[in-house]
Amino acid sequence: MHITLPQIGLEKNEIHQKWDIYTQEDMNWKEGKFFGYVYYPGEAYYAVIKEAYATFSATNALNPAVFPSLNKMENEVVRIAASLLHGDEQVSGCMTSGGTESIYMAVKAAKEWAKKNLASKNPLMLVASTAHPAFCKAADSMEFNHKTIKVDEQFQLDIEDLKRNMTTDVAFIVASAPSYPQGIIDPIEDIAKIAKKHKCLLHVDACVGGFILPFLKMEKVAIPKFDFEVDGVTSMSADLHKYGYAAKGASVVLYKNADLRKGQFYVKTDWSGGIYGSPSFMGTRGGGPIAAAWTALHHIGEEGYRRMAREVYEETIFIKDKIKSDIPELKILGNPIATLFAFSSDTIDVYEVADELAELGWSINRQQLPSSLHVLLNYIHVGKGELFINDLKTAVRKAKQFSLLHLKNNLQLQAIKGLKKMLNEQQFSTLTQRFSGGGDNGKRKAAMYGMMSELSGSGTLSDLVLEYLDKLYQIDDKKKI
Ligand SMILES: *Cc1c(COP(=O)(O)O)cnc(C)c1O
Repeated sequence: MHITLPQIGLEKNEIHQKWDIYTQEDMNWKEGKFFGYVYYPGEAYYAVIKEAYATFSATNALNPAVFPSLNKMENEVVRIAASLLHGDEQVSGCMTSGGTESIYMAVKAAKEWAKKNLASKNPLMLVASTAHPAFCKAADSMEFNHKTIKVDEQFQLDIEDLKRNMTTDVAFIVASAPSYPQGIIDPIEDIAKIAKKHKCLLHVDACVGGFILPFLKMEKVAIPKFDFEVDGVTSMSADLHKYGYAAKGASVVLYKNADLRKGQFYVKTDWSGGIYGSPSFMGTRGGGPIAAAWTALHHIGEEGYRRMAREVYEETIFIKDKIKSDIPELKILGNPIATLFAFSSDTIDVYEVADELAELGWSINRQQLPSSLHVLLNYIHVGKGELFINDLKTAVRKAKQFSLLHLKNNLQLQAIKGLKKMLNEQQFSTLTQRFSGGGDNGKRKAAMYGMMSELSGSGTLSDLVLEYLDKLYQIDDKKKI
């Protein structure tokens, strides 16, 4: 298929028709039968936030002098985030396009800090194995060495392993509040003591927690100290496009002081286009996400965020309690105290459970190390706990049943494990491709995920994923749209 620019522009109604066709296979997120991806505060708030996005969509925060409105909004958003996270007046930050960019900037700032303040010529970043991949993504791209710190059986950063790795090279420690995979808050106070003793930086990644933990605290939920309240925390990230309920493309990165923040800025003084200074990774920055984030914070307000946080929290407790009391096959990993968690099983294949949930219309993320499923609630899920639990019970019951399909999958998995040892890369890759695209309308994925976790960490898997990404960003005649 050869795609070209339409000679004559389509009419508005034709465009709308195309939208309808293109979105046919998208998840119907308003049903709320998914976790993560979309954070929805209800139609009334959403409508105003959407309006802000559209109204400011043409504006550009590249040059603050041209659109002082955006500069003012951004600074106010940063101040609000700083005050929610117990930052004092010294705490400084920026808005970015998302968690990944916030993390990228914090890693860059740490690298600049190390250049000036660390005797070692080989600065090192220590990052918990459960921390978001964005840290390694950033560090790899700027050749900042990094080492993984283990987590304990509760999925918290292992303090003993951290201590063992505290050499004079360490510039930067990364912890999460909470982590994305299991929703666990690392022991921030203990980690901060170590960071202070070794005079290194400590980043707390509150991308997912930053705009819900403060409100849960206000609602008297027992949340351990995790933010700038803890002496030793030097930077933080918090996503507005998650529990801030802002439009996508909005996050904040915060630093203990403005000096540290300077390390994330970029300046080029000898460009013929003029003296170029840019606060973050992006050049042109759309005004839409900034205005939408400012609008979400101001329209929802403390009262609205607290109410939503409380309701989401109660729905999460309901689901966790029901799993514990009614579904003995499943176990919740660690002790997640916020509004996300993961569950695994010692007796059944949770990937099969995910497949059965898919048959019932649910989209749930599959995780590995260990094999588990991911539950991450937001306001759209309030009132849906009972439906989910009922469907989960059905899914578990079906996954337990001895079925031919199950047997087939398991046999395939066993065969794959054996073949992996015997085939060369090329043969194996051909086989796995056929395998992952195969049968059941591609809906049943348990066997494929079983295979993936078998290959976890190997070069073969990395190649498979690269190939997959390559295919995804090509026009494919076989795709339906
Ligand atoms: C979502 C998330 C990120 C990355 O944020 P993006 O907006 O997807 O780039 C980083 N850390 C944690 C803990 C997250 O939940």
